[in-house]
Amino acid sequence: MENITASELAGFGVGTLLLCASIAAPRIDAFISASQRSTLGMCKRCGNLRMIACSKCKGTGILKGGPFGFNLGDDLYQSVGGGGSKVPSIACTKCQARGHFCCPDCSDTSSV
Ligand SMILES: [Zn+2]
Ligand SMILES: [Zn+2]
Repeated sequence: MENITASELAGFGVGTLLLCASIAAPRIDAFISASQRSTLGMCKRCGNLRMIACSKCKGTGILKGGPFGFNLGDDLYQSVGGGGSKVPSIACTKCQARGHFCCPDCSDTSSV
C-alpha cells in the first residue's frame, strides 16, 4: 500500500464519490417523488391512499410469535385454547390489528 500514486488516489476519491451518490440517489428520488405528489395535490405521505401500512406487522395486523410471543404465547394458548394453533397469532398493538394507520396528513383535512 506504500506505492499509491496520485492518480490511484484520485480514482479512489472518485469511486467514493460515486458510491456516495449511488447511496444518496434513492433518497433524492424519494424527495423528488414527494415533491411531485405535492405538486399534483396528492398526499406526501400516502399518495391519497389515506392510509399507511403498519411497519410492525407489515400490513397484516397480526404478529406471529416474536421474542416474547413464543414462550409466553405458547403457554397461554395451551392453557386456554387446548393446543389448537402451534404458532400464536397476536393482534398487532401498534395498528390495533388493522394493518394500517389512517394517514395523519389526510385525516386532519378530511374525515371520510
Ligand atoms: Zn400493525
Ligand atoms: Zn395521506
